[in-house]
Parts: sequence; C-alpha cells; structure tokens
Amino acid sequence: MASKVRLYVDHPLGEGQSVPLSREQAHYLFGVMRLAEGAVLSLINGADGERDARVEKAGKKGGILLCLSQTAPLQAPPDLWFLFAPIRKERTAFIVEKAVEMGAARVMPVQTDYTQSANRVRQDKLQAHAVEAAEQCGGTFVPPVDDLAKLSAVLKGWPAERQLMFCDEALIGDPVGLPDTPGPWAILIGPEGGFSPAERDHLRSLPFAHPVSLGPRILRADTAAVAALTVWQQALGDWG
Ligand code: SAM
Repeated sequence: MASKVRLYVDHPLGEGQSVPLSREQAHYLFGVMRLAEGAVLSLINGADGERDARVEKAGKKGGILLCLSQTAPLQAPPDLWFLFAPIRKERTAFIVEKAVEMGAARVMPVQTDYTQSANRVRQDKLQAHAVEAAEQCGGTFVPPVDDLAKLSAVLKGWPAERQLMFCDEALIGDPVGLPDTPGPWAILIGPEGGFSPAERDHLRSLPFAHPVSLGPRILRADTAAVAALTVWQQALGDWG
C-alpha cells in the first residue's frame, strides 16, 4: 500500500480542527500527489505529533483539511544543538537534512575562520529543507534552523551547562572519545578547510568544549556530520 502523504502545516492540530491550505500546499496535494476530496493524509506541525486528516475541500488555489485521530505523539529529540560551518549549497542542505533525521533539536550554521564566503546561507531555504526532511523521514519534530552566526559570537554567549563535542580533525590518530556526561550537548563540525589554529586554541581553552576524534581518517564535512551525530546519539542520545 502506498505510504500516506505527509504534510507539515504551521497550524494547530486537534480532533475536528479545520486546516486551511496555502496555494503551494494545494498544488502539492491536489496537483502533484493527485489527492481528491475524501482522501486521508498525515499532518505534522512540529508540536502536536502526527494526525490523520481528510481532504474536505480541494481547489487549485487552496483547500480545507479536517483533522481526525492522532496517529503518533510528538517525539521530541534529545537536547542536542548541531553547529556546522556551511559548505557548498547542496552539501549544506544534506547536512541539515541528516541533522533532522538523526535527532538534532536545533541546527546552527556558524561562520568560522576558514568558512568559504561563497557558501551563502539562506535561513528560510534551510528551514524548508528541515521541514521536508521531517515530512519524509516520518519525524514529528522540526528543529529550528538559525541564521548564520559567527562561531566566536555563539561561543561568547554559550550556556555553561551545555557540553560541546568539538570534532577536531587535528586529533587524527589520537582516538579521543566523547566523555560520558549526561545533560544538554552540542556538536561542532568545521568547514572544508578545517579549524584555524587560533580557533582550535580557543576551543580547547573552553571548559565546556571536548575535542573528539572521528577516527583515523579525515572525513568530508558532511560525512563528519553524520559520523558525529551517530557517535553522540549512540553514546548519550536516544538510540541506546
Ligand atoms: N581541511 C581539514 C584537514 O585536512 O585537516 C579537514 C576538515 S574536514 C573536511 C571538515 C570537518 O570535519 C573538520 O573541521 C572536523 O570538524 C570534521 N572532521 C573530519 N574528519 C575528522 C576526524 N577524523 N576527527 C574529528 N573531526 C573530523
């Protein structure tokens, strides 16, 4: 049986709730997915879990859905922030998608010394990638994606109780692992050019930062993102 169409709506979801559709949503449901009135699909809004909804009105410019029973409760991810230096556009979108699928609670693009200026970040586009990733992977939570911020500024206002997994490529061959410290965490992945010596010295001076190795080989930034999320989730997250 074809899996049910899943749609993210920025609207409360409750039994009997009517949900109006935008023109784009109507085009996707009725034009692309060919749903008709009476069809049932799944809705998520990032806060109320997943709920069935029936197409009450289908039109070219809009439509109305009626919420039915809840099919899954909200599954919030662990309290994990994911910081990464943007790389080429489509690979940055990949990193955001994997951070959503693998359970980040917040996605924070950061500008580091060697981040290539050509790697522009559009927050609205990355947020749309996060929504799409949640729709496709069956998730019910959509992490907020921040605007690009300077790493130095983010670290200045860092909450002291949050530990930082600093994925440091200079640890090649030195299998430094993740400390077994419960509580709020963050992961930091650098750009194609890695971290500058000044950044590395500064990060290593921070009490909440823990340099961690991702094995004996240099990984591409997008590979490192997946590897770091796997290591953290398995050791301290909700995979254990
Ligand atoms: N240009 C850098 C070099 O050759 O040393 C490599 C940077 S790597 C492409 C991008 C980021 O992935 C790094 O800044 C780091 O955060 C992470 N990374 C890649 N391989 C890693 C490893 N073996 N251990 C820890 N972090 C790694």
